Amino acid sequence: MTELKNIDEAWKRVNELRALIEYHSNAYYNADAPEIEDDEYDALMRELRELEELYPDLLDENSPTLKVGGAASGKFAAVAHEVPMQSLQDVFSMEEVAEFCAKFPGEAFVVEKKIDGLSVSLEYTDGILTRGSTRGDGRTGEDITENLLTIASIPHKIDTDAAFLEIRGEVYMPRANFAALNAAQEENGLKTFKNPRNAAAGSLRQKDASITAARGLDIFVFNVQQARGITFATHSESLAFLKQCGFHASPDFAVCGSYEEVAAAIEKIGSERGGLAYDTDGAVVKLNDLKRREEVGVTSKFPKWAVAFKYPPEQKETVLRDIEITVGRTGVLTPTGVFDPVLLAGTSVSRASLHNQDYITQKDIRIGDTVVLRKAGEIIPEVVSVAKHGDGVPYLLPEICPSCGEKVFRLEDEAALRCVNPACPAQLVRNIIHFASRDAMDIEGMGPAVIEQLIARELVHSPADIYQLTVEDIASLDRMGKKSAQNLVNAAEKSKSNPLYRLIFALGIRHIGETASRQLSVQFGSMQALMNASPADFAAMEGFGEIMAESVCDYFSTEHARELIERLAALGVNMEKQPDEDSAAASQTLSGMTFVITGTLEGMTRDEAKALIVANGGKVSGSVSKKTSCLLAGENGGSKLTKAEELGVKVISLDDLQALLSGGAQ
Ligand code: NAD
Repeated sequence: MTELKNIDEAWKRVNELRALIEYHSNAYYNADAPEIEDDEYDALMRELRELEELYPDLLDENSPTLKVGGAASGKFAAVAHEVPMQSLQDVFSMEEVAEFCAKFPGEAFVVEKKIDGLSVSLEYTDGILTRGSTRGDGRTGEDITENLLTIASIPHKIDTDAAFLEIRGEVYMPRANFAALNAAQEENGLKTFKNPRNAAAGSLRQKDASITAARGLDIFVFNVQQARGITFATHSESLAFLKQCGFHASPDFAVCGSYEEVAAAIEKIGSERGGLAYDTDGAVVKLNDLKRREEVGVTSKFPKWAVAFKYPPEQKETVLRDIEITVGRTGVLTPTGVFDPVLLAGTSVSRASLHNQDYITQKDIRIGDTVVLRKAGEIIPEVVSVAKHGDGVPYLLPEICPSCGEKVFRLEDEAALRCVNPACPAQLVRNIIHFASRDAMDIEGMGPAVIEQLIARELVHSPADIYQLTVEDIASLDRMGKKSAQNLVNAAEKSKSNPLYRLIFALGIRHIGETASRQLSVQFGSMQALMNASPADFAAMEGFGEIMAESVCDYFSTEHARELIERLAALGVNMEKQPDEDSAAASQTLSGMTFVITGTLEGMTRDEAKALIVANGGKVSGSVSKKTSCLLAGENGGSKLTKAEELGVKVISLDDLQALLSGGAQ
């Protein structure tokens, strides 16, 4: 802890810490999108706790050290917890565990894995699951019964004489399911989750339970919160009962008679946790005797009869042998460190992203250095620091693209270096795939396999080359007959008369999606007019942001873009707006309707959603009022959602909006 000379300084720091903790708690519990690692958050909380102990005058009943983190979002019905769902007192050293055990001489403890997921309560009335809820702030949670019912390992019915049971458990996402989910999210261009815990939390609090069902969640139950018609003397007895009822109960728990046995159990979990199929973020030590628990009691935040030991993140030293640069689909140069392999949290690690020049410079990472590696969130390997420099010099990313040899740029407001040469082979394949794709120029038969061959054989260097391919050129490719080649030439020919918006979209201008392309076509009427537009010409376009306008202007300012358009025009590709584009773009489906957008939409930014609404004749406003027709709500809607519910404003999802636009029922 930093040394603070007087109470004024301490007061200032306490306030800073409370604000920081509140910010990160919100990101973690409510938005399911943490911005810092758990151990960094724990360090803030610990510093605050120590300061409050040192200066008791600064203690405040609203301090995060006294409250269970999280809040009910308002997205689901509220559930008042009869028995508060408390947190646990964290400890970070074995001395603290020893101190805890010393308070209970001669008593038995249970040591369990601390599962890293989301705490839930399950209520069974006469053996039937009647309600399930989140922890929320510990006193009020959210009713997520429907979502919990989709988890295969939660029994809907249990065989018991107990008239009522409330069981507490931790819902988690197995590591394998997490990896598969993120791979699918990436493939579909959707945001990926930081770790299995956030993925579990995001998946469980879905309004549409079928999404939860598809996410492969599981649960371990670890406590009987309330029981009527059945009693237990010890915690271990209650865990055995839960297992017998068919639950996945706290796995491999140990009953220990002394601190030494507790320490051995903690060490065992520590050595095994890397290889488990799920994440754990500690070991929980609890008194086994339930009557004693009642006597020992609780604080406002946690029970006094338990502690959670947090393992330090595993770190290993290794040597950085090389830095490889790859050029991504959008031209970004990514440096990847290549290390001597080390075993970390259960797997062998030999590569880790070094992100960008700033990251490398800040840590002063050089080839040949001995570096400290760890896995962020137990999953993604990262360099913590340099332990020792070797004989390397400070590392600078190349100034030229390793793929095409052109100069690379650092764009304003970006940490990344980017190759902006559209003809760069690393980007060309991707650009041409996009150009020919169904939503763009829709050239049937021109898929990735054909395009890769055309580029490898140097038959295509630019989208314009597609229109100069002969049947013979195409027929010379692997697995390509003359007839298919002819079909492809015909498909390319047909695409020349596509509406203008398709061509605009096909150019792959950053930030310009299909809806924006339609708007541009209607606004400017021809490619020539669009090419000559200045940023001010976009100001009147509703829902068309400054970044989008700049992106269009930047694109057409390059020699390459102008040459491409000239060639495409000379080859007969349509450059003028077609009469039916007005009506297609100016769909009036949403005419007269005012929308407010809130929360994180899956698969679309809020700006894109705004553009979509505007392009279909709707209006978008910033705040909910009685005049609002619909609130378009994504994850974590917050106060706008509450307001809409209060005013009885209809709340719709992105799927509902899309159904509405495609003529489906709302
Ligand atoms: P906690 O997660 O440390 O401990 C309490 C929870 O442990 C309970 O809610 C319970 O559901 C769970 N648990 C799992 N297995 C258990 C078992 N076998 N027995 C008993 N309980 C078990 O405390 P918390 O207050 O919920 O959250 C704090 C945690 O969240 C810390 O790990 C912190 O690092 C993390 N956090 C991180 C950020 C961030 O920005 N990275 C922000 C807020 C909180």
